[in-house]
Amino acid sequence: MKRVLLIGDGASGWPLPEYAGRTALQAAKKPYLDRLCSAGRLGLAQILPPGVSVGTDTALLALLGQDIAHLPSRAHLEGAGMGNRIDVADWAWRLNLVSISASGKMLSHSGGDISPQAGRQLVEDLLLDTKLHALLEKFNFRLAVGSGFRHQLVRKGKVEITTIPPHDILGKQVEKYWPVGGAGLRDIMTHAHLLLQRHPLNHQRLKEGKLPANYIWPWGGGPGAPLKPFSLLSAHRGLCVAHVPVVKGIASLLGLTVANVPGSTGDIHTNWQAKVKAALTGLCSGYDFILVHLEAPDECSHRGDWRGKIKALEILDAMARALHLGLEKTGGHYRLLVMSDHATPLATRTHAPDPIPFFLYDNHSELAHGRAYHEIAAAATNYQVGGQELLKLLFSPPGEKGGL
Ligand SMILES: [Zn+2]
Repeated sequence: MKRVLLIGDGASGWPLPEYAGRTALQAAKKPYLDRLCSAGRLGLAQILPPGVSVGTDTALLALLGQDIAHLPSRAHLEGAGMGNRIDVADWAWRLNLVSISASGKMLSHSGGDISPQAGRQLVEDLLLDTKLHALLEKFNFRLAVGSGFRHQLVRKGKVEITTIPPHDILGKQVEKYWPVGGAGLRDIMTHAHLLLQRHPLNHQRLKEGKLPANYIWPWGGGPGAPLKPFSLLSAHRGLCVAHVPVVKGIASLLGLTVANVPGSTGDIHTNWQAKVKAALTGLCSGYDFILVHLEAPDECSHRGDWRGKIKALEILDAMARALHLGLEKTGGHYRLLVMSDHATPLATRTHAPDPIPFFLYDNHSELAHGRAYHEIAAAATNYQVGGQELLKLLFSPPGEKGGL
């Protein structure tokens, strides 16, 4: 049996006046998702227990059988997704390239949306500087090169540093938000700024009217933790098709193969066709479980871009259609689980702990309830499961008909 898990990151949310009092999932035109949902098992899933910070990392790890009381830091997960495996005993922070104005205001948490290549180049060039190299070595830090604005700062052994995520201080004076603790860190950040400020790539960006990626900014650090093997996955050959490093990292730490998809961006201009192609190629080359992740709905929700969120959900629909057609071509038994990892309501532009709507389509056990795929219809079924139950539905043996 082939099994596909399609995740629309932050796809679910709340009713919004811009959508005439509907949610984005209700307002988007998604005929294919609705058709598959109307013949599948529809319900709500409470993936995270109350009180746990809601994010793609926590939700996906809970879904994939991990103990959320002992999770690795986000930097460890993202590092793994970027090919930078960080020792579990080391402490690691996400290191953003950011843009800070001459007057000290945080203008962009993403270095003015620096491209994957340019961001990589800037950090690679930082590492060529002998003074920065000496400072890092003296204070036991190292920089791990990622891509775009996302990199990692690593330190041997435990050190408490209080940090603020740069996306939480957009438009604010950064002076009172500098990281506190971590001997030498401020010197490292200051020297990196001097190097970035005079880097030709940033001169070019200024000429083009773009913001310079002129500072490094660590946040969200912590130690690593080993992930435990996930029994439901271990019997399968799994492939992950995703753009964002945190999803790729979790997948790779759990033993899935991670596809590299050209043109994926983590936003609405992503090459979703290439992602579907990678998933279908995987299905035809012996993988029997494919995790496909679309980041765009979450990005649009954080931006407050309600039109973009509709577009992102329509891309999710197109992906479901193409995946379904590909699965049909295999001629065998398959299941398609479609879900949001967490809600990201446009009203708050941040993650919310609400249960998320999901549906499980099984081509050998079609239902005929006729309900569309959205929060209200899912709640009306009165069928609610926990995260791990949800994956049990997907992975149950064929005879058990996916719990349908
Ligand atoms: Zn998010």
